[in-house]
Amino acid sequence: MKFNSTKPSFARQLDAQDDLSPFRDQFVIQDPTLVYLDGNSLGRLPQATPDHMKYAIEHQWGERLIRGWNDGWIKKPAEVGAKIAEIIGARPDEVIVCDTTSINLYKLALAALQARPERKTILSDALNFPSDLYILQGICDLMGEEHRLDLIPSDQSLSVPLENCRERIGDDTALVTLSHVSFKSAFMYDMEKVTHLAHQAGALTLWDLSHSAGAVPLELHDWDVDLAVGCTYKYLNGGPGAPAFLYVRRDLQNKLIPPIWGWFGAQAPFNFDLNFNPARDLTRFQISTPHMLSLLAVEPALEIILKAGIKNLRQKSIQQSEYLIYLAREFLFPLGYELGSPTDASERGSHVTLQHPEAYRICRALIEPQETDIRVIPDFREPDNVRLGIAPLYTSFLDLHQAVRRMEQIVKEKEYLQYSEEYLSVT
Ligand SMILES: *Cc1c(COP(=O)(O)O)cnc(C)c1O
Repeated sequence: MKFNSTKPSFARQLDAQDDLSPFRDQFVIQDPTLVYLDGNSLGRLPQATPDHMKYAIEHQWGERLIRGWNDGWIKKPAEVGAKIAEIIGARPDEVIVCDTTSINLYKLALAALQARPERKTILSDALNFPSDLYILQGICDLMGEEHRLDLIPSDQSLSVPLENCRERIGDDTALVTLSHVSFKSAFMYDMEKVTHLAHQAGALTLWDLSHSAGAVPLELHDWDVDLAVGCTYKYLNGGPGAPAFLYVRRDLQNKLIPPIWGWFGAQAPFNFDLNFNPARDLTRFQISTPHMLSLLAVEPALEIILKAGIKNLRQKSIQQSEYLIYLAREFLFPLGYELGSPTDASERGSHVTLQHPEAYRICRALIEPQETDIRVIPDFREPDNVRLGIAPLYTSFLDLHQAVRRMEQIVKEKEYLQYSEEYLSVT
């Protein structure tokens, strides 16, 4: 993709030509000067969500009380799951919303290991989200140290060549579990190819879609993916702490045994049987009473994504990330910034990471500027990464232009020196 102007007027022109730009109006934008590049950590609030929640609280809870469950709450985890299924290329009965990403990873990883009892190796990589690795380490500990976690080596902590996967996946591999898009570098695996390699070796796959659901087109079912989990508060805009989802391919659903047996995973929870009989479908992976209010908050956001179309969103995200990298080359690389993401758009999710030794203080200056009204919210990620999330539903080209110019100014004028190097508790 070629761009030939670094002027803000060109950014405005790109916005004017963008078919998706009207979707920005479907989100609450309290402060129009705020450049929000953190939609991959916490998506914006959809305009429709406050009324939706007011109705849920005042009518469904306030008036209907316990009857709310039969009015429809009980079906919500599967119903919202079916919507997410549409976004990630799964069948409607292959996705359910419950618990958190970490808990779902725990449940599905243990179920997968139980299905491959002779194999003792769990394969992941060093780009994975630490919580995912902790969960896997905890599982190895629980299994009496018979199991081990092996990490596929990366290429300079930026990407993992397919060849490295091919070399590591073997006869002892029970499970290959990876983040589809890496939280730091945005490296994106070829999910279909890695899944195929795992299957050839007789292993199962479990993908974490936290940074890809709602950002890149996925065909989980057609790619024969076994298991997946993901987050709804990032690109799916479900709100802080919104419940996560899990995917289990249809033919595996009644073969895998959930490791936590709760009443919502039983065939007939309201029979109150004293012995657990797992449901015959995906619902066996539920544990207990759904977090109904936060689950309902996910609904309006999914409608927006389905209307915009995931392929259109991806197209815009690629155009925007290429534009951002183009501007970074022009303004930032001469100042010591480096690209911390793959250069090839087909190997990148929807965020772009720029590295600088002063990354932390640069982020502080972006978030709390002292000499300008332009406030930019990125993420800082250890040790030197400024992570810029592109959420094509509401990120504008002008946002990206402003962010890059601020990053330039902060280093050029040594503005970052005015900020403490001490980390805040959430970075
Ligand atoms: C955000 C994220 C999570 C979040 O986990 P929680 O259980 O919601 O805290 C998990 N995995 C990855 C890869 C993430 O990016």
